[in-house]
Amino acid sequence: MSYDDPLEAFTDFFTGPYREQIQELDDGYPDERSLRIDWHTLESWDGSVADEFLRKPSRMRQFATNALTRLDEISVVGVNVRVYNLPDRKTVRVGKYRTRQLGKLLSVRGKVVDMDGVQPYAEEAAFECPLCGTLSRMPQSYGDLMKPNECAGCEHSKPGFRFNREQSELVDLQKIVIIPPDSNLEEPPATIAFLKNDLVDMVGPGDLVTLNGIYETFDGQSESTLSTYIEVLDLDITERTEIDTYGASEIREFIMDALTEEIQATDDWAADRASVVDAVVERHGVRREEVDDQIEYLIGENDVGAEGSRLFDI
Ligand SMILES: [Zn+2]
Repeated sequence: MSYDDPLEAFTDFFTGPYREQIQELDDGYPDERSLRIDWHTLESWDGSVADEFLRKPSRMRQFATNALTRLDEISVVGVNVRVYNLPDRKTVRVGKYRTRQLGKLLSVRGKVVDMDGVQPYAEEAAFECPLCGTLSRMPQSYGDLMKPNECAGCEHSKPGFRFNREQSELVDLQKIVIIPPDSNLEEPPATIAFLKNDLVDMVGPGDLVTLNGIYETFDGQSESTLSTYIEVLDLDITERTEIDTYGASEIREFIMDALTEEIQATDDWAADRASVVDAVVERHGVRREEVDDQIEYLIGENDVGAEGSRLFDI
């Protein structure tokens, strides 16, 4: 059968063939906040819904999210709908995308060569009018913060809006760069990809990954040749590079060095734990969780004192 209403389609899918996965999501919620949809399962249930997901991923994902939130069987909010196991025809080599694929779902396999730290990202930013106090909300895209043109309350244009963090919708965001896994080129084609929510901090330099995501152009472009990125909807780590160049004791030394520097730089008796972790991750390419593990070890051994998120007394 085929559906006119995607909301109805996803409701039937979730209460039919995907009943067990939905139950698992409910059991694991709120620690677990992602529902991974196997595209092939969707396809064997209803081919046209599955094809529509490839063609209009943002829209279909929104319908799937809405259907999930409205299910009588479970009670979840803020779940990330992810899709994986895309058909082979959607698998593209890094850098081989075409204009007609913009806005569509792709599967790209690549090697992680660069990554930023995790940062808060405003999916929707709230602004307060300094003249009348009215809040205006603006959906955001990567790049410059976009402000409303006019206040909805007093109708002044550009009243000098103030960003209001508490009223904005913030998520964790991490930018990574991938290249083809087998390239011998000196400057291989590279693709920027954005990881959000529970996908952050999953990969490290050298890891081989399969990204399923939407091929997009950045907003606010300054040139007619557009810069692009992949908005990642799902991530498979096909091969992890073990960072065996550094042993646990070396990582502990990096931590102690960063801690000492941090304390000297801030001229304080304690350092912010997150800054120490950031410094070690950025300088040595060690995975964040490994640094955290070693900090816990140092605390356990009383090499450093801990209270809350701060480190003291080396
Ligand atoms: Zn106003």
